[in-house]
Amino acid sequence: MDCSATAKPMIDAGDMLAETRERFCIPEGVRYFDGNSLGLMPKVVQLHASNVITHEWGTGLIHSWHDAEWRTLPQRTGAKIAALIGAEPQQVVACDSTSVNLFKVLVSAVRLRAGRQKIVTDSDAFPTDLYIVGQVARLFGLTVVGVPAREINDNLDEDVAAVVLTHVDYRSAEIYDMQAYTQRAHEAGALIVWDLSHTAGAVPCDLDGSGADFAVGCGYKYLNGGPGAPAYLYVAERHADACEQPLAGWFGHARPFDFAPDYKPASGTVRFLCGTNPVIGLSVLSRALDIFEGVCLSDLRSRSIRLTALFIDSVDKHLSSHGFAVASPRDATRRGSHVSLRHQHGYGVMQELAKRKFIGDFRMPDYMRFGFAPLYNNDEDVHALIDAIDQIMISRDWEKPEYQQRRDFT
Ligand SMILES: *Cc1c(COP(=O)(O)O)cnc(C)c1O
Repeated sequence: MDCSATAKPMIDAGDMLAETRERFCIPEGVRYFDGNSLGLMPKVVQLHASNVITHEWGTGLIHSWHDAEWRTLPQRTGAKIAALIGAEPQQVVACDSTSVNLFKVLVSAVRLRAGRQKIVTDSDAFPTDLYIVGQVARLFGLTVVGVPAREINDNLDEDVAAVVLTHVDYRSAEIYDMQAYTQRAHEAGALIVWDLSHTAGAVPCDLDGSGADFAVGCGYKYLNGGPGAPAYLYVAERHADACEQPLAGWFGHARPFDFAPDYKPASGTVRFLCGTNPVIGLSVLSRALDIFEGVCLSDLRSRSIRLTALFIDSVDKHLSSHGFAVASPRDATRRGSHVSLRHQHGYGVMQELAKRKFIGDFRMPDYMRFGFAPLYNNDEDVHALIDAIDQIMISRDWEKPEYQQRRDFT
């Protein structure tokens, strides 16, 4: 029997995932490879935001704090995110920005390890993480040891209070072994803070299982919460009640509506809330997260790996002669959901791609980043992207004079 006649075409890992693309607004003619920077807008969000504004706010007004349960949105949204990062739900809250959350959890970690003098971090981390680590160190008179991620474990001793590491590197997409780094940090008596900004929603991880202490991450990347969506933070339950967070505001109080002059922290991760959170933004993020309901995380991961592998193979086959180098791990188990290429004319190539409605982004000095969001990118996107880059190189359209001037945002 001729197997090819009956064999199904190579379809997506799960039928579910072939269908989730339909749940997003994809602008006409656009091929989108920037879900690792700003996720596409889920269709349901439009109506939901309108309802929140018109009914919950416009009509319900102050009563919606109770009737629409605005007050527990950080916890309820956090619980949905927890399911994506291997955490029991009550340990995660959605609030503030990743930077602010890093500040809160890192100060808490340092206070739990009072007397120790150092914070160790990846010298190539996302800059905001480095700035916050620097500020916390300054406040507590500590030293920052910034080294390449791979050297972190060689720099741990009894003087290290905390390690701060991003699980999936924002430039290269390299995944750092959560279990192994966490274990090494603990052997040195230190606590570890994971940044999951490029993890949640694309790369499964196991915070509880690996024994992690703290984590933070973004709501607007693979979680599709929209521009400036609230971020989230995770605190292992065993630490929460011992934590003294530095931005202790009334929403983290045990009884905020007592309006008591003295601060008494809520028990658990809720104490990490500060002031009134943006209800509309939280509602949108929460609704966007419903897309993950019923999605199997291992299917999500398989699809992500398949797309990045297809892209890398195609670069090798069709683009290496133009001088493109793959700057992401070739070992799929060590690679997140985006692929970075390096090219001396990368900036011009990205500008010309954008002009042709292929949207990725550029990171200094010469990284061209392409995100493959497993909820909505497909094989066709990959093939079209490869063709477009090939054409741009052949036509030398990257050379246009207007691409010599760099813009602030790409
Ligand atoms: C995107 C990103 C952030 C963003 O921080 P915000 O304060 O939410 O703007 C932080 N860290 C990493 C690793 C990121 O990729």
